[in-house]
Amino acid sequence: KARKRFGQNFLHDPGVIEKIVRSISPKPDDAMVEIGPGLGAITEEILAVNPRLQVVELDRDLIPVLRTKFFNYPEFRIHEADALSFDFSQLVTDRPLRIVGNLPYNISTPLIFHLLTQSGVVQDMHFMLQKEVVQRMAATPGDNNYGRLGIMTQYFCKVQPLFEVGPGAFRPAPKVDSAIVRLVPHKVLPHPAKDLKTLQAVVRTAFNARRKTLRKALAALVTVEQLNSLGINDGLRPENLSLADFVKIADLLVDSGSLNSEADEVSND
Ligand code: SAM
Repeated sequence: KARKRFGQNFLHDPGVIEKIVRSISPKPDDAMVEIGPGLGAITEEILAVNPRLQVVELDRDLIPVLRTKFFNYPEFRIHEADALSFDFSQLVTDRPLRIVGNLPYNISTPLIFHLLTQSGVVQDMHFMLQKEVVQRMAATPGDNNYGRLGIMTQYFCKVQPLFEVGPGAFRPAPKVDSAIVRLVPHKVLPHPAKDLKTLQAVVRTAFNARRKTLRKALAALVTVEQLNSLGINDGLRPENLSLADFVKIADLLVDSGSLNSEADEVSND
């Protein structure tokens, strides 16, 4: 029986499962890692081409189910762990990881932030997420759902929404629509910030007041003169500012040593 607290909605539509695995396109030598394999719907298809798949599953009742189902794959490894605190770099041997997961939607945002910080060891990631979360990840300046998730995801990765999946593909059916997204970590960051924590503080502070002008939203961090010196119009709203501009503001704070205690506070999750 599916457990609500683990966000369990198991895929059962063979057509959808096949479409997902086809878009992941696992190869025999890839370092595949699946988060939250559940009853193994996606797992089974990946194992068929990549018997060295490793999975991270939190629900200990599912571990024996997976062991039994895939007993004939001796290289298949199950890590009984919480993906939110799991150190994925320990899985790296000779090549970067290819991470996949039909994620529990209640933890998807913190899990993605956790994975982004480890994106140096990742080749790509494919996730099933709530449709709105994929839209937020892919949003660009001016979009209604442009914000912290999109900016921080795009800081580290190229974001490619692939296709939508309706509730009927799962058991039990979730109340929301889902979508598959591909994240490919940038080999070289297009807009590297001098200090990631400062960037996060600026973005978070800005979007705490997304309807205000930058002048007001960022008043605790920068002056109007500083914004203008960067060529940034202080009358814009945070939702109109590009990643490059957020990085400029963060770098200015680092250079001027003016990151005050308030920003430090904001950066603490
Ligand atoms: N991949 C399976 C499928 O597509 O049918 C199951 C998807 S279900 C939405 C999410 C899975 O993630 C469940 O198996 C659940 O037990 C597992 N899970 C929940 N929280 C987790 C966590 N913090 N770390 C690892 N796995 C977790």
